[in-house]
Amino acid sequence: MTKEGKLIIFSAPSGAGKTTIVHHLLKKVPGLEFSISATTRAPRGDEVHGKDYYFISKEEFLHRIAKKHFVEFEEVYSGTFYGTLREEIERIWQQGKSVIFDIDVEGGLHLKRKYDGQALAIFVQPPSLEVLKERLAGRGTDSEEKLAERFVKAEKELNYAPQFDIILKNHDLQTACAEAEELVKHFLSQK
Ligand code: ADP
Ligand code: 5GP
Repeated sequence: MTKEGKLIIFSAPSGAGKTTIVHHLLKKVPGLEFSISATTRAPRGDEVHGKDYYFISKEEFLHRIAKKHFVEFEEVYSGTFYGTLREEIERIWQQGKSVIFDIDVEGGLHLKRKYDGQALAIFVQPPSLEVLKERLAGRGTDSEEKLAERFVKAEKELNYAPQFDIILKNHDLQTACAEAEELVKHFLSQK
């Protein structure tokens, strides 16, 4: 059996800035490794299989659900599944590292409950829904239809913030990254 380690969970509505902050932490904080999720969506931009996601077919995803390979999964957008594989967490713990997640709000809360006592769950909060919409549209990676779906979900997800251990405001990106770095380093330094 693998010795269990720590988990750092970053959740937020799409466009809040969690991927940007997580990438910053991976460069700055030693001993962290990104949990690569499985998804049935197609790669976007320069995303790479086995680095950003494990891009798998819906058929394989459903097969893996049946085999109980996921510690959590969600149909985040209609017809599109995302999930965390148990073997991914164990792969990282086996190296003596802590796992960092970029995951949707419900998935994040699910992991926080499951790994209570060894997880730090951080909600990334944008200045407002309007700014969130601007960031998401400005990223330029989603069609009008996909953007509309993400906006509807984002509005609901903002209400989940109080259930997280920490609410990290992402107004100025540099400030948010510096605060995230401090929080994570402090958490990792505790026994
Ligand atoms: P998420 O992973 O939560 O969907 P991203 O990290 O992809 O969000 O960020 C969405 C967009 O907003 C990206 O284009 C990113 O560069 C930009 N962004 C992130 N944080 C800020 C910020 N504090 N101010 C302005 N733009 C930001
Ligand atoms: P995107 O398509 O923008 O990469 O991700 C869409 C949403 O799915 C984001 O909120 C992202 O954090 C979330 N997500 C990514 N991986 C997982 C996962 O393994 N499980 C869950 N529940 N959500 C995930």
